[in-house]
Amino acid sequence: MTNQNEELTILLKQVFGHNDFRPLQKDIMVSTLNGQDTVAILPTGAGKSLCYQLPALLRNGLTVVISPLIALMKDQVDQLLAAGVAATFLNSSLDANTQHQRSKELGEGRYKLLYIAPERVMAGNFLTQLGQWSIAALVVDEAHCISEWGHDFRPDYRTLCELRRAYPKVPILALTATATPQVRDDIIGQLKLRNPSIHLSSFNRPNLNYRVIAREKAARQVWEYAASRPMDSGIIYCQSRKATESLTAVLCEAGLPAIAYHAGMTPEDRTKNQEAFIRDEARIVCATVAFGMGINKPNVRYVIHAELPKNVEGYYQQTGRAGRDGLAADCLMLFSRGDLIKNLAFLDEITNPQAQQVARQQLDQMVFYAEDSGCRRSYLLRYFGENWPEANCGNCDNCLEPRESWDATIDSQKLLSCICRIAQKSSFAVGWQHLADVLVGAQTERMRSWGHDTLSTYGIGKDKPKQDWIALGRQLALLGFAEVGKDKYPTVTITTKGMAALRDRIAVHLSRPLAASVNTVAIKAPIAKAGEIPCDDGLFQQLRVIRKSLADSRNVPAYVIFSDVTLRHIARAYPCTESEFLALPGVGERKLTEFGGPFIKAVGDWLKDNPRQSFPDLKPSPSAPRNAPPIPAALGATVLETLRRFRAGDSMETIAEARRFTLSTIEGHLAQAIEFGENLEPIAFYTPEESDRMRAAFLGQEATGLSPIFEKLGGAISYGKLKMYRAFTARKQNEA
Ligand code: ADP
Ligand code: ZN
Repeated sequence: MTNQNEELTILLKQVFGHNDFRPLQKDIMVSTLNGQDTVAILPTGAGKSLCYQLPALLRNGLTVVISPLIALMKDQVDQLLAAGVAATFLNSSLDANTQHQRSKELGEGRYKLLYIAPERVMAGNFLTQLGQWSIAALVVDEAHCISEWGHDFRPDYRTLCELRRAYPKVPILALTATATPQVRDDIIGQLKLRNPSIHLSSFNRPNLNYRVIAREKAARQVWEYAASRPMDSGIIYCQSRKATESLTAVLCEAGLPAIAYHAGMTPEDRTKNQEAFIRDEARIVCATVAFGMGINKPNVRYVIHAELPKNVEGYYQQTGRAGRDGLAADCLMLFSRGDLIKNLAFLDEITNPQAQQVARQQLDQMVFYAEDSGCRRSYLLRYFGENWPEANCGNCDNCLEPRESWDATIDSQKLLSCICRIAQKSSFAVGWQHLADVLVGAQTERMRSWGHDTLSTYGIGKDKPKQDWIALGRQLALLGFAEVGKDKYPTVTITTKGMAALRDRIAVHLSRPLAASVNTVAIKAPIAKAGEIPCDDGLFQQLRVIRKSLADSRNVPAYVIFSDVTLRHIARAYPCTESEFLALPGVGERKLTEFGGPFIKAVGDWLKDNPRQSFPDLKPSPSAPRNAPPIPAALGATVLETLRRFRAGDSMETIAEARRFTLSTIEGHLAQAIEFGENLEPIAFYTPEESDRMRAAFLGQEATGLSPIFEKLGGAISYGKLKMYRAFTARKQNEA
């Protein structure tokens, strides 16, 4: 280990209280410390701030951080001060006296870190002043703001190239959670980075689980969900300002501490409400998309989209605000097909035809996400160009409870031939609504005037409600049997693939659409297990009270004192001495001195009246590499069914065939069962010789994904076998 490496590791614990680096953190730090321009693209919650905060302590001189949000600056500085780091900020919220005082202290070299807003760069003689403060490194946070391609363009960011011009030798670190190549190239170009080292991590957020639920009465569904989690903070995204307010009213009436947030409120009200949320005084915020960028509250336990988001990128960003602390969190979307129609109406307001078309495509991708029966995580990651190797993520609705499939051959024939009949009769195409009307034999004005009630397919689908035909049509379109026009009133045509299916009577198997009615039990039951830290809940609540009073007396948010992760560790380790306390994640030396006393005392008091509980060791810690698959809490019904058939002697292929799942889904089921401790033998899956080869290949690589192992073995052992092997190993570790 080099000196620098050692120093980084020591300071990591001493100052920030962390025991290990998260993936890429150290690489990024070393690169910037070597004076290289660096770009870091990591998802929210990955720990980007540490990538510049820690190196700042090792440098002579000042690290200047450009950050777009004034509210966030104070927050970051408060957190650093609590850890004993000399940090400060300069922005328009300060009066002239304070500004002057801080500038003077900066000149005296009293600070290691300075946060500034981008507009400050060109203000007054700031650029010259920086020189007097011996600037050692420049950090551009939320660097995507520099790009017009990004979702958050800020013209002020464009002036940052002046910094490079004025201080050509000072290395720049650009940080963002926006992954698109366009944005990345723009960052490099605009900031004039020189041969930068680029660090891009997986965008998977293992502790987030994704679910889509059919929306019925949104307010009631949200209320039931929130009421079942009385201690948790959550964000509920609505599309309109009015919706945020009416939902807030419903929740408040039901006794839940909710507030609204949208761009139509006065700046004072917005700040007040945001503060209330950050300080845990209001646990629920019903907001439009205006809310979020300035929020680095780590313990948001759920994000609900009460309505369809406009695009996948925004959806990913918004759900990303959940679970920054690495603990399990829920991302729920309420979906109804009517959303699409409502959104199409919004598209009308876009005047530029090209922009309208892009918006339409983005909307379609969002609807695909909602209606897809495949893994949600895989869909999101694929959207960002990432290849997700696992067939079953074990932490989304479709993976935990796959939607069973049904034989849709006859119905598909009816529907596709109806499209053809209409096309033959009339010279125009129609939309899903009318098509379904023909199938169910509806008597509408159009039906008569277009003569569609004389078609041979008129009324051949009476046995099903109209909505089912529309749903089927959409699924067939997803599979490429039909095509939907991109116009405002989309019409449906049959594709070549659809014609072939009709002619050759090709069998069509489809997964069932989303449950039409909301199963409140399913909504309430948390399915997330990845990133859980079981602890003494009574003690945890007690510790939260202490944390809140310490935070209030310092006028800072609770997480500035300790994160929920640290509190959970206290509530499972019951530290009674300072050294036990210091060993916990998130406890550095300064925090031990400042806050150790009250927490250690609280633990002692608690143990006088309550039994000490014991907890199994934590397996995948939130800071473990991001692609280790999580272990479920209980096996779902569908896994149990696979297990039953396998035990009855069916091969995996037979089960896949019979249940109309892919082989890899069935393998996923059995791997889950193995990890869960079900009595299955390795010999049922691979030979002892294969087992030895896999053991050698996995050695030292347990935490990576399967593809490196697969490649290492030259593709000689299938992914299925690797999955089983890994499951058996994980089980051994659990049992050990
Ligand atoms: P980002 O800016 O990438 O969204 P943050 O810098 O806000 O992420 O960090 C998210 C959370 O992760 C914070 O609560 C932070 O304390 C924690 N964290 C960062 N690095 C580590 C680490 N090496 N070990 C444990 N926790 C960490
Ligand atoms: Zn999944």
